[in-house]
Formats: sequence, structure tokens, C-alpha cells
Amino acid sequence: MENKEDPKIKIALQLFQNVVTDILVAEKEKGVAPHIPTDQLDKILDLKLSRKGSSEKEFRTALRELALATPKTAGNKFFNQLFGGRKAEAVLGDLLSVILNNSMYTYKAAGPQVAAEKEVIQNIIDLIGWDNAAAGTLAPGGSMANFMGLLMARDKIGLNIKNKGIKQTMRVYTSEESHYSTVKNASFSGIGRENVVNISCDDSGKMIPEALQKQIKEDLANGFLPVMVNATAGTTVLGAFDPLKPIHAICNEHNIWLHVDGAYCGAVLVSKAYKHLIEGIELADSFSFNAHKMLGTPLACSIIVTKEKDHLYHSFANEASYLYQTDHDEYNPGKISLQCGRRNDGLKLWALWKSIGTDGLEEMVDHQFDLAVTARNYIKSNSDYTLYSFDDSVSVCFNYKNISASTLCTLLYEHEELLVGYGAFQDNEFIRLVTINSNNNSEDILAFFKTLESFVANNSALFQHSQINAGA
Ligand SMILES: *Cc1c(COP(=O)(O)O)cnc(C)c1O
Repeated sequence: MENKEDPKIKIALQLFQNVVTDILVAEKEKGVAPHIPTDQLDKILDLKLSRKGSSEKEFRTALRELALATPKTAGNKFFNQLFGGRKAEAVLGDLLSVILNNSMYTYKAAGPQVAAEKEVIQNIIDLIGWDNAAAGTLAPGGSMANFMGLLMARDKIGLNIKNKGIKQTMRVYTSEESHYSTVKNASFSGIGRENVVNISCDDSGKMIPEALQKQIKEDLANGFLPVMVNATAGTTVLGAFDPLKPIHAICNEHNIWLHVDGAYCGAVLVSKAYKHLIEGIELADSFSFNAHKMLGTPLACSIIVTKEKDHLYHSFANEASYLYQTDHDEYNPGKISLQCGRRNDGLKLWALWKSIGTDGLEEMVDHQFDLAVTARNYIKSNSDYTLYSFDDSVSVCFNYKNISASTLCTLLYEHEELLVGYGAFQDNEFIRLVTINSNNNSEDILAFFKTLESFVANNSALFQHSQINAGA
């Protein structure tokens, strides 16, 4: 007998196809979604839930209008975050994981999906150059991947912390330009936010190894217990790469775990031209990166690998007779994950990788750097602009005509022109254009600048009171 949901699924997928077609048209025609002030949401969209539900027609309309009013992250006007674009094969892989709906804790529940995930992880390990003691898994986001790195570092100290709790004041080191997940994770792990020490950066936003060494020595003299150094491969604002080799030498001297947060740009691993930016990655104890950033998969696809799989088992394995009933541990990845039930986030990357190969992934990454060169060259050749960022980065930071970056970004958003954000480094605030959507070409990047310039030219009244240096 047919399950009564089966015909509904077919109808739902038909509706899905129709809505997707409309989304693609809207993305192409306008690029950005309508800007809806938050106090207007209920007037414009039918979002309210009710006891009775909706008619078929109301339901379809509500769904379609919600989809069409949602910011378009795959179009050529979205430069706001460290992701963008859409890769068909990766989308297909992700859609399949929804339909299949496996949970990635056991081979019994996920079957060959476990092997596909292992294949992705093994290829990453091979690119790093680690041996078969290495292993990895996927976490629900880059922040959580970093959390796993921190927990392994904490538990490796060997004070039976995972059973007894923390008794000594620990210290974690990360650069002042690093992502906020390190302090957040320090609070989750019991180490405490105040025990994260921000190490200063040089003028290009990279951690200064000498400053790290000095701080560690001082902390040791004061009786603190250093547990981890977090180095960043692609800082969130400037896209800078901390120098891994000298940082590792310091970690090695003091026997401290080195985690590399490559959430943003760790995927340079696949590029022969840019892998040098993470020179020394094989020396790290753990490394995480987001395939949903440089590799263009849908959110989230966050991978963490470690040189020695024992640490993954030590920190994350739990016996559970109701769960682990068959097969070898190696095919029951629930033993090395943060969660219990786990979405199959690896299939989207497996599908993309299977289809375009490592060469295809490399082309995507290299293209993003090429687009950044296009953007920097445009800025350098035009005296209305000031450039703040550096070569070998896909974050292009600049200001235009002495206009406040925050004002300009907000107006571009509210006037439905472009989605782009701003950041700050040292004493400067600036616009951060992220060239991470590998579907874009150099015309899209030049069109970004043209749109910004004509917006400013046609709306001069809006900018009268928003100079960078008021009174200058
Ligand atoms: C994006 C980012 C993160 C966080 O990743 P999520 O998947 O958003 O949790 C961590 N570190 C860096 C450097 C990032 O750019």
C-alpha cells in the first residue's frame, strides 16, 4: 500500500521546482531581495501560525512569498558574508541528504553515506600530508569545529578533566584579529572567556610569534596552564594568514596544542598556487575549515581533522549500547562527533568533489583570488578609493570618497542596491568586499563598483552628514 505522504512528496517537489525557478529569475533580474523593515514584516508576509492551518492555496502563496522576500545569497550583488554563490552539484548532494534523512552516527543507520564522508575526510588528510593516524569529522558550523579542537586540546592535558572538571587556570592564545568563536568556546569548555589571551598582530593582521612567546612565558611564570594556540588561516576581516611554522615552533617548545582555524580560507589547501599561505599546516594538531565558504557548498559544511585520531575518541566517544550495536568503530562515526543525531553535511561536498575533482575545487579557489586582484587593481587605479587590505586575500577592504563605510553599506542595503558589509582594523573602518562567490566574473566585480559609484552620485544629499572625518 502506498504511504499517504508519498503522493504529497511528489507534489511538494513540483512546488519546490516552481519556487526555485522564480527565485532564479528574481536573482538574475534584481539580484537583491526587497528591503522589508522589521516592523512591516507581518503586513507584507503571511507568517502567522494558527490552530487550523491554511488552505492549500494560502500555504503555497505564503511559502513562495517568504522565499522571494528572502535575501539572495547566490546572486552577483551579495558580498556581505564569507560565503556566496551556488554550486549545482553541491545543492543536489544536500537535497539528497534531506530526502534520505540518515543520521551519521552508525553504519547501520547511514550505510555507504559513512564511506562517502570518510572519502572526503581522507582526501583532506592526504592533501595535508598526514598518515593513517589522522582522522576527522564534520561539525555543525565552523565555530563548533573550533570547539571540538579546543576540547581535544583541553582533554589532552591529561588531568582527567572530562571526568573531574577543570581545577587549574588554563590559558588559550589567539590573535586579536581572530574569530569570536574562540572566546565563546572558552566559556563553553569551562576554561573561561577571561583566560583567552589576545596576541597582537602586525600591520597586515597576522599574529606576531614573538608576542605569543612572551605571553606564554609570562603565563607559565605566573602558574597558568597553557592548553591551546589558535592560529587563523584567513582572519574574518582582512583575510590574513597567521604564520604557522614559527607559531608551531613555540607550541612545540611548550607542548601546547596548535589548532588552525581555517573556517574562512583553509580551503587554500586544494590550491597549488595558494597552499603556501598555510605552510606548516601538517605541523598542526587540528585544523578546521568551512567548505561552505571558499568551496561554495550550501551551509553548513564544516570539517575538522586531527593528526591523531585518539584525541577525537578520547574527547568525544561515549559507550551507548542502545546505539552502537553493529560494525566497527571506524564506520560508526558517532563515536567521534559532538552531537548524537547528525545531519549528513558531507554529501554536498562529496557530490561537488566527485563531479569537478580536486582540480575543479582548485579552480574555484584560484578564481576567488583572481577576482580580488581585479577589485584591488580597480581601487588602486582610482583616486576616489583608499585600499586597506593586502595581496593574497579575498577580503578587499576600502573606503570611497571619505564616506563613512557603515553609512554607505547600510544605505546600499536599504535602497536594495548591494549587500556588502564593513569591518575595522587598527584605527580604520572600511567596506569589506568579499570575492568568495566563484560564480562571479570580473565584470560582476566591476559592476559592484559602478553600482556603488552611481548610487553615491545620485544620492549626494544622503551623504552630507556622514563623512569619515567629520569636519575634515
Ligand atoms: C566564519 C568563521 C568562523 C565561524 O564559522 P561558522 O560556520 O559561521 O560557525 C570561525 N572562524 C573564522 C575565521 C571564520 O571566518
